[in-house]
Amino acid sequence: MVVDRAENKAAAPRRNVLTIRELGHERLVRILRAANGYLDTPPEGDELRGRSVGLLFFEDSTRTRVSFTAAAQRLGAHVLDLASGGSSMSKGETIADTARTVAAIGVDAMVVRSRQAGGPGVAAAAVSSPVISAGDGRHAHPTQGMIDVLAFARFVGRADAFDLAGLRVAIVGDVLNSRVARSAVEAFSLLGASVVVVGPPAFAPPKLAALGCDVSNDLDAELASCDSLMMLRVQVERHGGAGAPPGYRRGYALTSDRLAKLRPSTVVMHPGPMNRGVEIDGEAADGARSLITEQVRCGVATRMATLVDVINGASEGGAP
Ligand code: ASP
Repeated sequence: MVVDRAENKAAAPRRNVLTIRELGHERLVRILRAANGYLDTPPEGDELRGRSVGLLFFEDSTRTRVSFTAAAQRLGAHVLDLASGGSSMSKGETIADTARTVAAIGVDAMVVRSRQAGGPGVAAAAVSSPVISAGDGRHAHPTQGMIDVLAFARFVGRADAFDLAGLRVAIVGDVLNSRVARSAVEAFSLLGASVVVVGPPAFAPPKLAALGCDVSNDLDAELASCDSLMMLRVQVERHGGAGAPPGYRRGYALTSDRLAKLRPSTVVMHPGPMNRGVEIDGEAADGARSLITEQVRCGVATRMATLVDVINGASEGGAP
């Protein structure tokens, strides 16, 4: 798959969701409040009746694709699902050309995932309908970042103002190669939490401090001070198929021993898919303090709120 240059910047839509940073605090909180509302009161089912949502996934996905599909359908929208296998996306067509083709068929919003950083932005520059990133290389996964703050804010009773000041979140594992980590750092920081990213030096190098977080190579030193511990999968597909480095489990897995060292109120999170026995053990993933299933539930609500924001917000002419 080839990423080509954006040619049509003038047509860039106004209500994309490409990164949390671009979304900004006000719009982030508006979407989170709407998502929180959907969890308490399910939608009527006609909010997006007659609208259509294109799913353009240039990289594998299970939960994100199913979650966006469920979100669109529960609001009454049609879904046009272009999987990269079995479509001309696997014949070398560029992201921009695929996006233009889908736009010509007619959609009200596109959900785009790409292996290469920048793919959703390329699609956004090529079409006038709003684009939501569903995963942008190592770079961003904004709806996952929203999911993570929503699940956490609900748990700590802060899902009214979404002010997370005074709380500390540790994001642990292959941070360097994780788009989830980048979006989560942005989302938690924007809402006032302090964030530390933790991993071996190869996965958590000092330069990650530029994201606006602390960086640590010592998980055991962080356990007692965090309110949430978010474990990440080793992104084997982004380092040539090599698995976790030697000693990874000993230094960075959430084992039963480490679980016992957390404060009783600390929650365990994971964006999925999990590799049990690598970065997280069953006792942590399935235990009473795990928010992992709640994150998935928050996923559908967050994507409903995001779709309504970009589609109905655009038609109302609302400012981004
Ligand atoms: N599902 C997440 C992503 O798309 C996390 C992962 O794959 O490890 O980035």
